[in-house]
Amino acid sequence: MKLAMIGFGQAGGKIVDKFLEYDDRTGSGIVRSAVAVNTAKADLLGLERVPEENRVLIGQARVKGHGVGADNELGAEIAEEDIDEIQGAIDNIPVHEIDAFLIIAGLGGGTGSGGSPVLAKHLKRIYTEPVYGLGILPGSDEGGIYTLNAARSFQTFVREVDNLLVFDNDAWRKTGESMEAGYAEINDEIVKRFGILFGAGEVEHGGEVAESVVDSSEIINTLAGGGVSTVGYAAEEVDLDDSSGLLSRFRGDDSADSMESANTTNRITSLVRKAALGRLTLPCEIDGSERALLVLSGPPGHLNRKGIERGRKWLEEQTGSMEVRGGDYPVSDSGYVASVILLSGVHNVPRIKELQQVAIEAQDNIDDIRDESEENLEALVEDDEDELDPLF
Ligand code: GDP
Repeated sequence: MKLAMIGFGQAGGKIVDKFLEYDDRTGSGIVRSAVAVNTAKADLLGLERVPEENRVLIGQARVKGHGVGADNELGAEIAEEDIDEIQGAIDNIPVHEIDAFLIIAGLGGGTGSGGSPVLAKHLKRIYTEPVYGLGILPGSDEGGIYTLNAARSFQTFVREVDNLLVFDNDAWRKTGESMEAGYAEINDEIVKRFGILFGAGEVEHGGEVAESVVDSSEIINTLAGGGVSTVGYAAEEVDLDDSSGLLSRFRGDDSADSMESANTTNRITSLVRKAALGRLTLPCEIDGSERALLVLSGPPGHLNRKGIERGRKWLEEQTGSMEVRGGDYPVSDSGYVASVILLSGVHNVPRIKELQQVAIEAQDNIDDIRDESEENLEALVEDDEDELDPLF
């Protein structure tokens, strides 16, 4: 499907940049327009692919291009004040050519955390196209204020978008890696998963597997109904030379043909299980997911309807959902068969409960420290017997 991507804040802008690179590399054609919004000028300058005319610096009067320093209330205020400047860049988007908006942001910071829900609300008021969010949760080692920001932004963002796709940095961070190297790897993972998912709806119908190709409407219907979504992924390398069963057909060998087909089916069903039971972008219990979409991508000769149908049935049993869609995304020159699973409307997410608990503790701590600091300052400034008078 074709998306207008808006990266809000530093993480959001960097990830949109990555999606543009992915699009160039794979020709998937999912980014119809790319916009980056920030209060920090340096972050906008650091982007490589977002067109310069689509980089919007907001809040210049308030923070002079220096960012909001993890103050997401200020981020939200600035987004509201400067919404017309953001709209100015959105006006360049040929909205009739897009299937949806996707707002991307790290929820632990200031600009994206505060600004994205404001922008989502604005876009939903103006356009009929769905507005999705891709929200990145901070690592638990980032500290209380980031957790508090993320918990508050998450609550607000879910309410304002048609669906919030979530990626949890905490589930993906590796120890002993520099932050930059870590983010580069994580961003590749984000772009790969969501790239296959959204790319699936971009394939032209026609060719061998036309009737089971995923359509953008299936992605939209899986996301419709709102809530929170997570994405699973698993892949296996395949031999491209052997992708069409040509060898056995050439030999006129029917039993080899059916064995190949059985292998293909088994590979697909095992990839579906691995994707659902492996690491999700937001780890959660898949039982109780409201809707799901299964996408199998790879060379057409390595995809078959039976495998997808079995995988779909298995996913229905595991999620308890009656709304599990499935289809394929043929990519002729790929050396992999990949299974991507979108689980939409997930409810049982211990990580979110934990995030909220830490956020509440951080909020209480911040209040205590503020009260204490006022008292301490007063004790310092005032003389003990109150004998001195201030000048005015
Ligand atoms: P903002 O510019 O004020 O919106 O804040 P940032 O985007 O710099 O940071 C917000 C949060 O996003 C951080 O707390 C991190 O958890 C996360 N983050 C920052 N950079 C990246 C990145 O490149 N990739 C990912 N996955 N997360 C990031």
